[in-house]
Amino acid sequence: MAEFKKPTTEAEFAANFHPKKPLMTDTEAYYESSRCLYCYDAPCITACPTGIDIPLFIRQINSDNKDGAAKTIFDSNWMGHACGNVCPTEELCEGACVYIHSDVKPIEIGRLQAHATELVIRTKKKLFRMGQSTGKKVAVIGAGPAGISAACELRMLGHAVEIFEAKAKPSGLCVYGVAPYKLTNQQALDEVSYLRDQFEFNIHYNKPIEGRADFDRLERGYDAIFIGIGLGGTSTLGVPGEDKQGVIGALEYVEDLRMMHHKTPIGTKVIVLGGGNTAMDAASESCRMGAESVLIAYRRGPDEMGAYSFEFDLAKKSGAKALFNVTPLEIMGNGSVTGVKFIRNKAAYGKIEAIAGSEFVEPCDMVLLGTGQGKQVELLEQVKGLELDHKGRILDNRGRIVVNEHYQTNNPKYFAAGDAVNGGVEVVNAAAEAKKAAHGIDAYLKK
Ligand SMILES: Cc1cc2nc3c(=O)[nH]c(=O)nc-3n(C[C@H](O)[C@H](O)[C@H](O)COP(=O)(O)OP(=O)(O)OC[C@H]3O[C@@H](n4cnc5c(N)ncnc54)[C@H](O)[C@@H]3O)c2cc1C
Ligand code: SF4
Repeated sequence: MAEFKKPTTEAEFAANFHPKKPLMTDTEAYYESSRCLYCYDAPCITACPTGIDIPLFIRQINSDNKDGAAKTIFDSNWMGHACGNVCPTEELCEGACVYIHSDVKPIEIGRLQAHATELVIRTKKKLFRMGQSTGKKVAVIGAGPAGISAACELRMLGHAVEIFEAKAKPSGLCVYGVAPYKLTNQQALDEVSYLRDQFEFNIHYNKPIEGRADFDRLERGYDAIFIGIGLGGTSTLGVPGEDKQGVIGALEYVEDLRMMHHKTPIGTKVIVLGGGNTAMDAASESCRMGAESVLIAYRRGPDEMGAYSFEFDLAKKSGAKALFNVTPLEIMGNGSVTGVKFIRNKAAYGKIEAIAGSEFVEPCDMVLLGTGQGKQVELLEQVKGLELDHKGRILDNRGRIVVNEHYQTNNPKYFAAGDAVNGGVEVVNAAAEAKKAAHGIDAYLKK
């Protein structure tokens, strides 16, 4: 029996996708910030990839200096509001909070961060002043967390910035990928709009950079180019029947869901293939869309899943079940999917081995492929001299852009950061890397 009723209106969709970490009230923020011990050498700062001075912004919230708190956050992380909502804080700052050692609930750093930044975004508070113009122009490809963060930092350093974005909206996977119970479209778009007002960079929407001619144009018109294009679509599984109706990439499904909300079609029996965070999100979201049954199928055991355990727990709490140690052999059906044929596996010397004769068919009418995102290799190969990781030991990592410690590629005019470089981590990593890349660009332009 499904835990969630299929949403048929925007209100029902919003109820099913109720925020996982709702915004704090002023009183809640006051009490929570009062618990902070303002640790010396605070471990929460070290655990944050952007190194936000967490005890400082918590103290600022506690003394009712919310503007100061928001500035402290944005000074380190231009995606401070998105990150307050979407960061896996359990694994980062909150996971490092000293309270953990006393078996006491850690400070809710993410929610405090979202609280402080929401206020300045809502009130459009001017907090930043751009650097004096250097007369240099930088083209940024992609308006995701990496591109937006690079743009803000470059404007602080006085460089003009134009962003070229393939889609109709900014914010990359914050709008097209992250689960809506973590961040709504409006929250993601409002943050970018706030940053645009602060820094006056241009975003050209529906303007994909498609090949050599576009790169030539950017090389002629700009002093440096930043690549923040993220990854590509869902990788194929490579089994017969993948083209059947009802077989969809998990990422593409989530993208539809983010755009169409309750109007997105959902199957009755959904099988999600994969054990990463995207697979868990797709499972949790399918449950919230009212699928009668959602089954996560993974080829290894639960401890070997790439997903954070809290994301798996959320999927289970949402109503998903899991099937471990199974490999999909074929997607069954005549035109439309009717099931997935699996074979059971056993572990042998760290590898998995199929158990002969253990095939079985699990019926379903929708398959979501959580098989990871491909890289945009074909496009990137058109940038002269740009080195891609073709030799990486881990197959999944191949095709990432190779950069030095300043995030400069082998073509000195090009810099890159975010998923296209790290292979796909979190929003906070893209923001942290892009900030460093902006300083790399600044040093290059000053030479
Ligand atoms: C389903 C899913 C759920 C996720 N959930 C979380 C989460 O809960 N928390 C978290 O921290 N992280 C999450 N992540 C990861 C996070 O979203 C990414 O790490 C982050 O968005 C990377 O930022 P980016 O700017 O490098 O890439 P992207 O966000 O992918 O942005 C790239 C941008 O470039 C544009 N672009 C691409 N090609 C071109 C081109 N040729 N020309 C112009 N523009 C182009 C794209 O349209 C996009 O706007 C999730 C990822 C997925 C797939
Ligand atoms: S570790 Fe916890 S208690 Fe210490 S400063 Fe950070 S949030 Fe506050």
